[in-house]
Amino acid sequence: MTEELFREDASLASCQARVSAVDERGVQLGRTVFYPLGGGQAGDRGLLILPDGSELEIYDTRKGARPGEILHLPASGQQAVLARLTPGQLVSAQIDMPRRRRHMRFHTATHLLCALVPHPVDGCSITADYARLDFHMTAPLDKAALSAGLAKLIDEAHPVAHRWIDEAELDANPGLVRSMSVKPPRGLGRVRVLEIEGVDLQPCGGTHVANTADVGAVVVTRIEKKSAMTRRVILGFAAPSASAG
Ligand SMILES: [Zn+2]
Repeated sequence: MTEELFREDASLASCQARVSAVDERGVQLGRTVFYPLGGGQAGDRGLLILPDGSELEIYDTRKGARPGEILHLPASGQQAVLARLTPGQLVSAQIDMPRRRRHMRFHTATHLLCALVPHPVDGCSITADYARLDFHMTAPLDKAALSAGLAKLIDEAHPVAHRWIDEAELDANPGLVRSMSVKPPRGLGRVRVLEIEGVDLQPCGGTHVANTADVGAVVVTRIEKKSAMTRRVILGFAAPSASAG
């Protein structure tokens, strides 16, 4: 079981960790800052740096088949470095932080969207270039109004923080679970919830910025009618305005 440092502090870009396993599925560490694909959010990329200074490029991070397993997937063509990686070795794990920051900004923006569109979510994808959120609803959505709503919530600089609640508390508040496709993991006794003060509260295991102001220039770029019952909202980074410095 890998200690998931990114759950407690999403701002961590690196950590020292011991290699716990290396096989054809990937590299496992005792602890990691690499977020594995999940909850719609893309897996992290980065480097594992060996004691001799050689670097192993990680192109994606995934959950393993067993609960708690996190697999760091090496990019191809690195057999020589992989051969020097052995269980017990101490490595420096470093994520591509500029890329992750974009995930965090978009991910936090999807929570703001949830507050603006009070309908169940039945799909979500968060990448470094865009994010999309599918709402189970039939009414049309207005792109300009949603972008303005986002801008207001970002401008208001609401603090963003997670905390753990027990499953009994979750069961007593069924309204907490907004997403139809991503159910919070059960059976662990506690569930991680993400609170944007005064705006949104829902179970979430992803990574977020610490304040809505840090979301920055994120706007609604497109709204699609994905099906009779689904409206898809796509977020992107605002193009720098011509007048800005
Ligand atoms: Zn989240």
